[in-house]
Amino acid sequence: MTVPKIDRAELIAVSLPLKHPFRTSAGVVVNRESLLLRLRCGGLEGFGECTAFAIPFYTYETLETAQRIAEEYLIPELLSLRNIDFDTMRNAFADVQGHPMAKAMVENAVADLFARAKGVPLYECIGGTKKPIMSGIALGLKSSIDALIDDVTLAVDKKYHRVKIKIKPGADKELISAIRNRFPDINLSVDANGSYDASRFSALRDLDGFNLDMIEQPLPRRDFAAHARLQKAIRTPICLDESIECVEDLKTAVSLGACRVVNIKQSRVGGLHRAIAIAEYARTNGIGVWSGGMLETGISRAVNLHLQTRDEFNLPGDTSETTRYFDEDIVDAPVVLDEDGFIQLPEGPGIGVDVNPDMLAKHSLLHKIV
Ligand code: MG
Repeated sequence: MTVPKIDRAELIAVSLPLKHPFRTSAGVVVNRESLLLRLRCGGLEGFGECTAFAIPFYTYETLETAQRIAEEYLIPELLSLRNIDFDTMRNAFADVQGHPMAKAMVENAVADLFARAKGVPLYECIGGTKKPIMSGIALGLKSSIDALIDDVTLAVDKKYHRVKIKIKPGADKELISAIRNRFPDINLSVDANGSYDASRFSALRDLDGFNLDMIEQPLPRRDFAAHARLQKAIRTPICLDESIECVEDLKTAVSLGACRVVNIKQSRVGGLHRAIAIAEYARTNGIGVWSGGMLETGISRAVNLHLQTRDEFNLPGDTSETTRYFDEDIVDAPVVLDEDGFIQLPEGPGIGVDVNPDMLAKHSLLHKIV
């Protein structure tokens, strides 16, 4: 599958107010600012989203760095190509080191365009199978345990397949214990965003008796050895998120025994194809796989749904209903849960959702033809 050439590329910065501020061990997000790329080719258009944040609290990338890398390097390279396929595009980007979220935005826009040109849903182009997708919800740090329990109760009522809470040193055991007292049997996991260190192993070992599905990224991203030591000391599976930027990182983790689960965010690893390579390696090596979230708009939320049609994605991810985060989104239709907590894939070619021009205009901060 190729696209003859890209006629036009536009970068669009948007800001969507979150219904509730989202707090992690590393920072708080009030408005979800995001960067979109719209590509046009022969009457069709494809969208990609960069899910970096405005500040570098999750990874080093920010919306500002991604815009600069896309504008100065990736998009000019893309516009210079003819008969574009993924290999050609990735080779053209090979001299740009790092910046996976900027690259994912470009690759995903091209993938949407490819699938729309072919008239098929994206999952058909990436080896997926149409099926309902399991849901999951990530709850940020709250002002009180009562507020957290209220949020968990709502999630359980909605039939989310997995509830994840953010933790940090000093805000862990008490929260989990309160949830377990109320909900002894739900699929529950915790995410520390790397906020513990080796001196706090005992606090992490204390979580081993709560029957958690996993402890996500307890330790700093580069410390594979400490994750391996911790995994040997606890029964609860460790899930790596920020540590895994490429398949080589997962090979390191597997060889050391540093995790039993991986959270694959296609944006963090540089797009769908690298995400699939990591998922395939994980499955071959008995590592559980799920798709993480980035408080993204409906564009990336749809991409994540298509990715989860791949067989390797065997655990509930972070994909929630749109209304969990936003009163208004820039795409139609929103993600909703059915009565059993599943999400149906969006119908239609490409990513299957369409950008609503009125909502895009309302929430745009910048619109630039590159
Ligand atoms: Mg995480």
